Amino acid sequence: MTIRPDAALGSTASGTGTRERRQALGLTGSCLCGVVRYEVDRLDRPIAHCHCRTCRKAHASAFATTAGVLREHFRWLAGGDWLRAFKSSPGKQRWFCSTCGTHLLAERPAQPHVVLRVATLDDDPGARPAMHIWTSHDPPWLRDGDGMPCYPEWQPGR
Ligand SMILES: [Zn+2]
Ligand SMILES: [Zn+2]
Repeated sequence: MTIRPDAALGSTASGTGTRERRQALGLTGSCLCGVVRYEVDRLDRPIAHCHCRTCRKAHASAFATTAGVLREHFRWLAGGDWLRAFKSSPGKQRWFCSTCGTHLLAERPAQPHVVLRVATLDDDPGARPAMHIWTSHDPPWLRDGDGMPCYPEWQPGR
């Protein structure tokens, strides 16, 4: 199932400026300007710092901190009218706030999970980063040295 940002907000989502339409039940997250808000029940996969070129460009950052969340554990709470998606590679959509530019998640519609941008969480998920992936895409100016495993592409067993 493809995420349809407006659908998850229900019939009251019409860009009226109401930022919170119901009480969040899980961990909540938001974009920089605060217009887009979501909640997740939990992180379903380990937190990884992704160094791939597309994450670096999309986030304007050395790496993007990501974690898989099953679709049934993710809900948009507000701001669906402001969400836009960029197809960074065939079949992969990166959803971001069109007002402030914050990237909130990426998805491949055929997969059962979305890939949350963990740095947009406003609550502590408890879990801590477990690995760096796609370090083969690092530019020369980026060096880690933090002791976590680094893999030139995907981690083993993925
Ligand atoms: Zn925003
Ligand atoms: Zn990446």
